[in-house]
Amino acid sequence: MSAIYLHIPFCKQACHYCNFHFSTTLRSKPAMVQAILRELELQRDYLGGATLKSIYFGGGTPSLLDLAELEQIFEKIYALHPVAGDAEITLEANPDDLTLEKLRSLRNHTPVNRLSIGIQSFHDADLQWMNRAHTAEHARACLQDAAATGFQDLTIDLIYGAPSTSDAHWAENVQIALDAGIPHLSCYCLTVEEGTALAHFVRQGRSEPVDEAKAVRQFEYLQDAAAARGYEHYEISNFALPGRYARHNSAYWRGAKYLGVGPSAHSFDGRSRQWNVANNARYLKSMEAGELPAEREQLTTAQRYNEYVMTSLRTMWGCAESQIETFGEPYAGYFREEIRQFMQNGTVEQGEDAAYRLTRSGKVLADQIASALFWVEDAE
Ligand code: SF4
Repeated sequence: MSAIYLHIPFCKQACHYCNFHFSTTLRSKPAMVQAILRELELQRDYLGGATLKSIYFGGGTPSLLDLAELEQIFEKIYALHPVAGDAEITLEANPDDLTLEKLRSLRNHTPVNRLSIGIQSFHDADLQWMNRAHTAEHARACLQDAAATGFQDLTIDLIYGAPSTSDAHWAENVQIALDAGIPHLSCYCLTVEEGTALAHFVRQGRSEPVDEAKAVRQFEYLQDAAAARGYEHYEISNFALPGRYARHNSAYWRGAKYLGVGPSAHSFDGRSRQWNVANNARYLKSMEAGELPAEREQLTTAQRYNEYVMTSLRTMWGCAESQIETFGEPYAGYFREEIRQFMQNGTVEQGEDAAYRLTRSGKVLADQIASALFWVEDAE
């Protein structure tokens, strides 16, 4: 499996909690599209000619691209890479961009076959608190319009744990998504990231910090409600109807190769990771000069082990003992020793297939458990 990720670094306005790379000045959008086309050419050999099984437009807000811009990017990708006939081709979109006209043109004139919609909440109070550009009405309407235009492969993002999100609001958000039969849900706990407006507001006392107990309650509600409707909780933040897993994200979690194009995009070739500069002006300048604005690092065994532990433990497939053994005995021995405390306190269990998985009580502690299992390089 190999994949391409394209980072479209523009948004209409800055959501208060967001720490992704984006600019709210759209002036350089046409130049950015040209630069992305150039980077696709420069990086044409990165995946070694492998057939693409996934193309993913993320950001930022890729639904700000117009049809002509999308067509140019697809034309370039298809000219440079073989693309599987059943490739998953995802566009992240915000509800306010998904007019019927936009949906029809995506459906009829591009190969996009999956929409990832940044709904976040179906309540205006939450959306205003988050500084989202859309309303609750946009959120509901775009789901109906997407279905009406034939988009069956939908995933939506929802955020829980925000001070504005009462348990009743959250329950309603979850039920609306489940009633709509959305096959895939990505639900994130609000986090206060450094450098965001939210972090500033919390420091100033203008916003409450995240209420951890409420966040856990809402996460548990979500797990129960999704399970009752037959969704699989296949990754900490992701729920899918049987077989409707996100192929693109699953590729990341399973260590597949991917090429990331655009400012701040990361790439992985199985052994090394590289990342583009997270600055639109510097990215554009480098592309004009035909130079890749990327840094690269060869992953050490410890980094590969840590990454495997962190990502696999978050999935329902778990952390496989056989895979841990491929890192060599010091790592396997360390893992077996450290995992024992979590087996004893009931936050991790080992299945008949020998894979270690988080239990329900372990799921709320996923990050802490993974970091306790990390190999610290200096100890090597
Ligand atoms: S959450 Fe999405 S729409 Fe909001 S600022 Fe971040 S990237 Fe842009």
